[in-house]
Amino acid sequence: MKAAVISGVGQVEVTTVDDPRPGPREVVVDVAACGLCGTDLHILQGEFAPTLPVVPGHEFAGVVVDVGSAVTEVVVGDRVAVDPSLYCFECRYCRAGRNNLCLRWAAIGVSTAGGAAEYAVAPVSNCVRLPEHVRLEDAALIEPLSCAVRGYDVLRAQMASRVLIYGSGTMGLMMLQLGKLTGAASIEVVDVNPERLVTATQLGCTAVASGADELDRPEGWDVVIDATGNEKAIQDGLGRVARGGTFLQFGVSDYAARVTIEPYRIYNQEITITGSMAVLHSFERAADLFANGVLDPEVFISDRLPLEDYASALDAFRSGKGRKIQVLP
Ligand SMILES: [Zn+2]
Ligand SMILES: [Zn+2]
Repeated sequence: MKAAVISGVGQVEVTTVDDPRPGPREVVVDVAACGLCGTDLHILQGEFAPTLPVVPGHEFAGVVVDVGSAVTEVVVGDRVAVDPSLYCFECRYCRAGRNNLCLRWAAIGVSTAGGAAEYAVAPVSNCVRLPEHVRLEDAALIEPLSCAVRGYDVLRAQMASRVLIYGSGTMGLMMLQLGKLTGAASIEVVDVNPERLVTATQLGCTAVASGADELDRPEGWDVVIDATGNEKAIQDGLGRVARGGTFLQFGVSDYAARVTIEPYRIYNQEITITGSMAVLHSFERAADLFANGVLDPEVFISDRLPLEDYASALDAFRSGKGRKIQVLP
């Protein structure tokens, strides 16, 4: 089959690899669409401890075309979205139900071959069947949505919060959509690239700006979410948290990123700084939300490209063009 392969740091190509075969409790999915995201760029940089070479792609959905000998829950022809998370279920964190902190955390498309290929293998327990009305290509959005749901789980969002989001890429926009669902009083979005703010406005945020100063809220925000991973944005955002408020690190920064905190303010104003890592018990809920139309795929997916264009699709993503970019293998 054809697959995108990251063979070394900075090296990606589309090539022919062996067709995957399912283990006893695995299925093979004929991939309809696979989304690209910042994680793929980190893997290309050699971060996230990828096992190179690897077929990237952790955001995908498709049709089951083969099942392992011990699979009874899904059958050939089922339409599924795949939770890419792979846990050991044995370590201290898994045993405490905190699987996304698993000491042996791994993921399809990071540690094992992913969805940027004609076919991908997944454990049957990672597959969520999709209702008929959900288009398979669109369902590749469920994985990033499940990360956003996890973000709001961490926030334990309260009704009528004032929310500030840094970044209006796919993840920032998803946090905006979920912020509306969780009853935020206001949601403001900042992005240094004004073109990207057009969609945030279209989706009904309260205000947009290229910097938080323009928003004139000297008392700050109850919830500040970084969806950029960018040092400057994070540093700025930490200073914008209101008394008693929470800062959520949602964007993936470079390993080397560093910011300064103000311990006195954290103490004196009871500020919470927290993070949200990937997916935890949130994939099925995201699939439900998605099936109920929480996101308009036509707004969220800006580019659908052939698999052959994987390398240039990554370049386009890196340059900040568009929103969710997909390859259709
Ligand atoms: Zn992703
Ligand atoms: Zn574990």
